[in-house]
Amino acid sequence: MVNTEGEIVDYNKKYLDMWDLSSATLTSGRMKDLFSLIESKLQDPEAFNDKIDFMNQNIDSESIDEVNLTNGKHFERYSKPYKVQNKVVGRVWSFRDITETRKLHAALLYSATHDKLTRLPNRRLMNDRITQNILLAKRQDCLAAVLLFDLDRFKNINDSLGHTAGDSVLRLVASRVTRVLREVDTLARLGGDEFVVTVSNIDNKAQIEHLANKVLDVIKKPFKIHKLEFYLTGSMGISLYPKDGSSVDDLLQKADGAMYRVKKNGRNGLKFCETDEGVKTLKLLSLENDLRKAIEENQFVLHYQPLIELPSGNIVGVEALIRWNHPTQGLLMPADFLQIAEETGLIVPIGEWVLKTACMQNKLWQEEHLTPLKIAVNVSSTQFKMPKFSELISNTLKETKLESQYLELELTEMVIADNPELMLEVLNKIKELGVGLVIDDFGTGYSSLSYIKQYPFNKLKIDRSFVKNIYTNEDDSNLVKSIIAMARNLKLKVVAEGVETEKQLLVLSGGKCDLVQGYLLSSPIDALALANYLRNHPTASSSSGSL
Ligand code: C2E
Ligand code: MG
Ligand code: MG
Repeated sequence: MVNTEGEIVDYNKKYLDMWDLSSATLTSGRMKDLFSLIESKLQDPEAFNDKIDFMNQNIDSESIDEVNLTNGKHFERYSKPYKVQNKVVGRVWSFRDITETRKLHAALLYSATHDKLTRLPNRRLMNDRITQNILLAKRQDCLAAVLLFDLDRFKNINDSLGHTAGDSVLRLVASRVTRVLREVDTLARLGGDEFVVTVSNIDNKAQIEHLANKVLDVIKKPFKIHKLEFYLTGSMGISLYPKDGSSVDDLLQKADGAMYRVKKNGRNGLKFCETDEGVKTLKLLSLENDLRKAIEENQFVLHYQPLIELPSGNIVGVEALIRWNHPTQGLLMPADFLQIAEETGLIVPIGEWVLKTACMQNKLWQEEHLTPLKIAVNVSSTQFKMPKFSELISNTLKETKLESQYLELELTEMVIADNPELMLEVLNKIKELGVGLVIDDFGTGYSSLSYIKQYPFNKLKIDRSFVKNIYTNEDDSNLVKSIIAMARNLKLKVVAEGVETEKQLLVLSGGKCDLVQGYLLSSPIDALALANYLRNHPTASSSSGSL
């Protein structure tokens, strides 16, 4: 605390510790002397000084910002006038060490935008790059290209040499291809053995073909794994902006069509997109038609996966997960049809069906005198953006006579990122109804920690990709620990999803995770099986068992 004459009135020991100063350095009692000591520890002392001058000249102003230290630490700096009887008599400067939060933030951002196996950019970052390239091409009147390729018969490697060998091949392909690209090009992994190179700032097709051939050539070099030497080839489809499409999705779809022709032609090669390429395949079209009929014909079912509390081992909730009993294709999983449902808007009626069925089922269990559970329903962003979404929730609760405390909605970070202000309003309305709010797949989205604070969430579900390696990968295990610590600070309960092994469970319970969900405890099961599960497992009311 400093008075208007610039004399230090008070300070605490924590302050000295943070800045690594001894009390002897404060003998002059002048703020100027003190701040000149601090200066030498800052990355940008000039900006810091400007700020101090400004604050001293504007004695009524209040400000908050961040200062970066040369030792790698980050402090939050807060300054406000100190008043006695409404008169400014000095100023309070306070500092808070936010290094850990910043680190967590950076780690989350990295993991949301990169593929774990190869450390290449993932689909999301690739989308960004293609968008940038399109903008650049517009401005500079040049071409942008999307080169989509996969490895021919990669499945054979996995099947005959095992997944570890398969993973090594993918990492090798990643590093070989990266080396032949220009700095401005991006190699991304979309998943499996599918990769994309985004190319910009090129003005003719021949240059792209040259680059594409270099990529395919490095794949053809021998691989040596477990003393075994073998060869691979790749198939590549190429689409160009502006000729083949004007959006990221267009360009990818067209490149995919061209790659498909290479495959049909015996693989190992490349093709440029042809104009009629990429119209919706027949398979997709018929799925869309089937989807329209599925609601009327009652082909959807919900499965339920228990949520287990730690350390008691009690089942305290279930998550409702949709499945589709397709008349000819058998039981389809969300990954097989949700995207089409989103694209066609069919997700809205489907979502309403899920919500109503889940609430109804939960009420039924309660009427069977089973221990009351919270039921969690996943909500997609299209659904969430519908006008009157909160009314839909309150009406469904009324109609099914389920008390609001037994319903939770799960949404991903993406839902909020789409429209932060509107979402805040809707979420607050839902919270007022007494319905719980869960942030799902945490760590895969934009992962800005600051926004979570403002939203009325009760729980945070750590994405299963972090849980997967929690026992084997130190980075992931540290990340999970930091997420749990952060969630505690924000008074959120933490759920870990995708728990498959005892070892993962051990780390999570040691790390003070509140709830777990995963195949180890139970896969998603139908309503009847869940009722049986409830009868045979500890619940809060029986509360006898442990894990
Ligand atoms: P989610 O909400 O993250 O759901 C968890 C997914 O993890 C489920 O996949 C579940 O079966 C799976 N899972 C559970 N335990 C384990 C485990 O130990 N290991 C592994 N590897 N996986 C596990 P599912 O049922 O295929 O659902 C996938 C996604 O589809 C869900 O992810 C959710 O985002 C979405 N979804 C499911 N049902 C609905 C729905 O009714 N409406 C909407 N909008 N989305 C839904
Ligand atoms: Mg979920
Ligand atoms: Mg999830």
